[in-house]
Amino acid sequence: MVAPEISTVRNNWQREEVLALFNQPFNDLMFDAQVMHRRHFNPNQVQLSTLLSIKTGACPEDCKYCPQSARYDTGLEKEKLLQIEQVIEAAKIAKASGSSRFCMGAAWRSPHDRDIPAVAEMIREVKALGMETCMTLGMLSEGQADNLARAGLDYYNHNLDTSKEFYGEVITTRTYQDRLNTLANVRNSGMKVCAGGIVGMGEEQRDRAGLLMELANLPVHPESVPINMLVKVAGTPMADQADLDPFEFVRTIAVARLMMPKSYVRLSAGREDMNEQMQAMAFMAGANSIFYCDKLLTTPNPKANSDMQLFERLGIAPEEYQVDKGNEEQAAELHQTIAEAKTDAMFYRAG
Ligand code: SF4
Repeated sequence: MVAPEISTVRNNWQREEVLALFNQPFNDLMFDAQVMHRRHFNPNQVQLSTLLSIKTGACPEDCKYCPQSARYDTGLEKEKLLQIEQVIEAAKIAKASGSSRFCMGAAWRSPHDRDIPAVAEMIREVKALGMETCMTLGMLSEGQADNLARAGLDYYNHNLDTSKEFYGEVITTRTYQDRLNTLANVRNSGMKVCAGGIVGMGEEQRDRAGLLMELANLPVHPESVPINMLVKVAGTPMADQADLDPFEFVRTIAVARLMMPKSYVRLSAGREDMNEQMQAMAFMAGANSIFYCDKLLTTPNPKANSDMQLFERLGIAPEEYQVDKGNEEQAAELHQTIAEAKTDAMFYRAG
């Protein structure tokens, strides 16, 4: 099949069309993705998010990639829900290091209603610092989504992980439909949706196409689309998974950019294992957001200062703060950070 002409935002993708995009010659795909990217974004800006684990481990779910599942022995140290002061402190460091969005993740199947007041307080306090907020807490009911939206949460992350067909190979304790229901509750509450998936879990290209098709065929595209490369953690069932061809990963980013042209495509977990050339290629393919901290929930992430050094070499600037535009003090601080590529002050332990 010839790759389809892409000119508008669509929500009616067929899998064969998506596969045709995947299988274009690499240079054609990269060119198209870059052209699309430039239509909607500044190609030399990348949005920075920082992720803090606010409750770690002991999750009852069986996601086969996840070191936080209570079912696998990964040596992970469990942590109860953090105190509000710890969260504020981490958010301040993240802001000073250049992040515009602060994401908070809890290893829950879904939050209990009794947890909501505490997380709502975290949302209010982080927002008061002038940052965008995002949370990932598992499945949400309609009422819970509404409560988080009322507290001012900007984004809710809930990934589809993979295609409908491959999903059962990855998780058995919740269904694909459960995930879609949570995404619908988030969207209906008025919050922005962050939803993506993981590649390199042993799925086929059809599944990667299927994941992107599900995301792009949602009634409204997720504003943020994290594409994760599997991080193989010892003790999880996916510890010995074969590597995915790096070019296939870059193709996945490029196809996501073409299918969801106005969404932020985030280079997420697995970046630690990508060399600079591969990351640069992912930015060319249309990735324009990264997690920026030295730990992603529980797995390592490139050190913040090496990210800044790479940005310097590529002429990329962190996207301006969404909520604090015009704050000269912050801009000067960030400029200083990039110029000096400081180390200690920027290291930030998320877990
Ligand atoms: S991915 Fe989330 S839901 Fe699945 S085991 Fe890990 S923490 Fe639990």
